[in-house]
Amino acid sequence: MGKKLIIANWKMNLTVNEASLYVHKLDKLVGKLKNTEVVLAPTMLALQPLNMQVQHHHFNLAVQNFYWRDSGAYTGEVSASQLRGIVQYGIIGHSERRHIFAERSKDIRSKVQAAVRNNITPVLCIGETAQERANKETSDVIRDQLVGGLANITSVEVGQIVIAYEPVWSIGTGKFASPRDVERAVKYIRRQIEHLFGKVAAENVRVLYGGSVNLDNAMSYLQTAGVNGLLIGESSLDVYAFAGIIKKCEDMPSLPVKRGK
Ligand code: PEP
Repeated sequence: MGKKLIIANWKMNLTVNEASLYVHKLDKLVGKLKNTEVVLAPTMLALQPLNMQVQHHHFNLAVQNFYWRDSGAYTGEVSASQLRGIVQYGIIGHSERRHIFAERSKDIRSKVQAAVRNNITPVLCIGETAQERANKETSDVIRDQLVGGLANITSVEVGQIVIAYEPVWSIGTGKFASPRDVERAVKYIRRQIEHLFGKVAAENVRVLYGGSVNLDNAMSYLQTAGVNGLLIGESSLDVYAFAGIIKKCEDMPSLPVKRGK
């Protein structure tokens, strides 16, 4: 049994002031949480000011992106070592980074290593495109992205990371995966982790679902075997919708997290 993890990915939305107001409002709406860990991924600019603010509340912060080297002549980049102590999580391999910014497996695994090295929990995003799904390549894509992203880290480190299963065709489209498909994918993810890193790592790794999650469908994923939480984009921009999802999660009967193996 463990707390469910709910991550808000605000992408390139909300100013620093808007982000700060949001945190204040969210805190008022959800109050003290017992069963849910809430993580906010605002614009990079807001991380430092929000860090002070969230310390008073019970939220954690995630960075949406960073560079994998710790320091040096890399104009415009921010490193995991500079983010150390400010964020608890780092989103890595998001489909927008893979597809719009052409990030490759090599970049992604270097970021996973950099996060681990700097005490930041990686949230490794994986998932198939619509074309890959139509070609029945979902399992191959999941396996390749896990192998590519997790090379060079130990089984102990893998057990502490978070995997977000986010089918690309469901991100920001309003087309969400069926809980049955999510259960199947999550089972496959844990089987691959077990194959690569052993049983303990497969049991410990947290697996989230992300893709057009909203107030109406959130519960169906939270109740899906093997799912430890959610990664939410668009619906997290509306503080009332996001608070509603958190409250549903918080009020869920506390069943043991079924690993779906
Ligand atoms: C995301 O960007 O990770 C995401 C899941 O977005 P949305 O909820 O908007 O589909």
